[in-house]
Amino acid sequence: MAYNAQHFTENKHLGDDLNGIGGETATWATRFTRSQTVTSCSRATVALAGANIVILLHAYLENGERKYVQSYYGHVQDMLVRPGDLVKHGQQIATVGTANGRYFAHLHFEMREFLTPFIGAGYREDTRGWLNPTKFIEQHR
Ligand SMILES: [Zn+2]
Repeated sequence: MAYNAQHFTENKHLGDDLNGIGGETATWATRFTRSQTVTSCSRATVALAGANIVILLHAYLENGERKYVQSYYGHVQDMLVRPGDLVKHGQQIATVGTANGRYFAHLHFEMREFLTPFIGAGYREDTRGWLNPTKFIEQHR
């Protein structure tokens, strides 16, 4: 299980900080394996891969309506996908990093309702447009 070291909106945080290794049950988010890899658990398109960040665009159906959401993977080490790539369920997209030793290896994970890929700072007073990743995943597994 990954350990959520800093939750959504805690200290104005825009996502969850996932520390830990060994596999997570979430369908949408990430899974750490023993080799500290990040995998996509839902089919998606790569919207951004650069500056140690990967952003994926997911389409999903809710009550027969097509909706979109973005997942954001920060502090990754090696990026294994490129913008425009189609990512399959369970495909490895990156490895977990430390931001050049600034942190313990962890994944900064956001889910966003807006569709413009931009990097951002990870913290913000106004969290509109950002989803609680844990809650979203629970509701859409
Ligand atoms: Zn974070």
